[in-house]
Amino acid sequence: MDRKNPEVSVVVPLLNERDNIGPLYEQITQVLTDKYDYEIIFVDDGSSDDSFAVLARLQKQDVALRVIRFRRNFGQTAALGAGFAHARGKIIIAIDADLQNDPADIPELIAKLNEGFDVVSGWRKKRHDNAITRRLPSVIANWLIAKITGVKLHDFGCTLKAYRSEVLAETKLYGEMHRFIPALASWNGARIAECVVNHRPRTAGTAKYGLGRTLKVILDLITVKFLGSFSTKPIYIFGGLGLLSAFGAATAGLAVLYQKFISDSHLAMNRNPLLVLTALLITATIQFILMGLLAELLVRTYHESQNRPTYVIKEILESPADDGDEE
Ligand code: UDP
Ligand code: MG
Repeated sequence: MDRKNPEVSVVVPLLNERDNIGPLYEQITQVLTDKYDYEIIFVDDGSSDDSFAVLARLQKQDVALRVIRFRRNFGQTAALGAGFAHARGKIIIAIDADLQNDPADIPELIAKLNEGFDVVSGWRKKRHDNAITRRLPSVIANWLIAKITGVKLHDFGCTLKAYRSEVLAETKLYGEMHRFIPALASWNGARIAECVVNHRPRTAGTAKYGLGRTLKVILDLITVKFLGSFSTKPIYIFGGLGLLSAFGAATAGLAVLYQKFISDSHLAMNRNPLLVLTALLITATIQFILMGLLAELLVRTYHESQNRPTYVIKEILESPADDGDEE
């Protein structure tokens, strides 16, 4: 086995999953052994039970295991991010630690990836979670995410996904954003597929999320959409709103003048509520345009400070450089 360059890295974020780690480790190992060169990266996201002790014990017996331990709880997205950053495989699989995802689905995800996709997302078609706090919000959130990002998946929230490592190298993860990787990747030209996967009820440990996550997901969606569509041209959004309110200001202002000087009403200008609206919209116009310009400054700092190009190159064909000292 090639420890430095495994084909497959399995990344498992976990928080207080003491009783699930052993069985999960067995199941993953059973599925992958003899099929692939693989490594399993467990990321302990600040567990307060003895999850880490369990991991340490397993790691001593198996060179395919790597364990990353956070100093405190940073959240599932951060844990996945750390796992992705340390993964050495060309194919990276993310999977939950609570045994709700089934490692038996991994070969199918990999097979699909090898058909020529860059991300293959699991779809928990028969989901075993609370109907009111999890399944209903998830249906709505998935519909909304698909509509807004234009990426048609049924189950963005399913952790079980397979990625080509290049795809992950490009994405930085914030908030609850791991679920948007397929959308971000697809905007960069990646090909995305979906695969129905098994989903099992949780039998040990407790669920870490409730309804509150849906709100975070929706706020993240707004950010992702904004960054995806306008991060290099924020003035288009702010300036657009600015022009809209300028148009409103002009309309309201003309109406005030009309009512004062032309129509029969001869409404005094200082009694006319439309005058207040005009002033308000003029202020809004100025604010929007200035905010747009500020955003333009920020964008330049953002891209230039990180040396982030505003495009993604797939490959370059060229002849070897001519070093200029030919006779
Ligand atoms: N998890 C984590 N950090 C957190 C919360 C959760 O690493 O702050 C892990 C958790 O141990 C599990 C996975 O993320 O492996 C999904 O959590 P959970 O099962 O509670 O969520 P759900 O399946 O309901 O999405
Ligand atoms: Mg779960």
